[in-house]
Amino acid sequence: MHSVNIGHMEITLDWPLIRDILKTEYARARADIRQLGASRALEQSRERHDAQIAASVDFNTLACRAGCTWCCYFSVDVRAVEAFSILDFVEQTFSPQEQERIYSEVRANSVVFSGLSENERATRNLKCPFLSDGRCGIYAARPQSCRNYHATDAAGCQKSFEDPQDFDIDPEFAPGVYQVGGAHVEAFNGALEDAGYDIAAYELNCAINAALSDAGARQRFESKLKPFLALSGVDVVPEFDEAD
Ligand code: SF4
Repeated sequence: MHSVNIGHMEITLDWPLIRDILKTEYARARADIRQLGASRALEQSRERHDAQIAASVDFNTLACRAGCTWCCYFSVDVRAVEAFSILDFVEQTFSPQEQERIYSEVRANSVVFSGLSENERATRNLKCPFLSDGRCGIYAARPQSCRNYHATDAAGCQKSFEDPQDFDIDPEFAPGVYQVGGAHVEAFNGALEDAGYDIAAYELNCAINAALSDAGARQRFESKLKPFLALSGVDVVPEFDEAD
């Protein structure tokens, strides 16, 4: 075990648990990707992801509740496989009118976010297009990063919302959920990468807009090419590296 600093909190990593999740989820994801393809594998992985988080030692300390939406104005990153899956979910779930409302917000947000750095995006509070009546409209298909959000005090999230320029505001979080959720996502995306798929991180609105407006994007992704020609994704460095 060793300690790491996440924001202002020092936490002790539970390496046996992290190692077990990395190994087990990686093996399951690799098998699912091989048998079902990337999108269906993600759907299977999401169920395990939620179960892992619900079983984490400090799950009951989370302040996240239905109707609490501060974090739904923060910048969110997704992988391409998630963007395509969200689009499928929206098409299967919402009426044409609702879809048009969502996509028009996606387009407007992507204009604002386009070309901004991660830090610049963090200073903009933009309502997520999937937030409606205080609820996530794509809850079952929400991004991995939304699933991993793990604040234990909503007041910190509110402060970040009210003063997005202040990067020193650091909401309290649940270390157990952070480790379990982080390891799960790292394992799934590692399996996707080793199967040859793009796993760069893209801003949510820009990725959805690119998936919507470029008919070839999904085919390029399935062919293991870079899906979004106009977007530069960010390569995410694995968080749980025992060599650290
Ligand atoms: S996808 Fe859902 S949970 Fe994530 S920011 Fe949007 S509304 Fe909130």
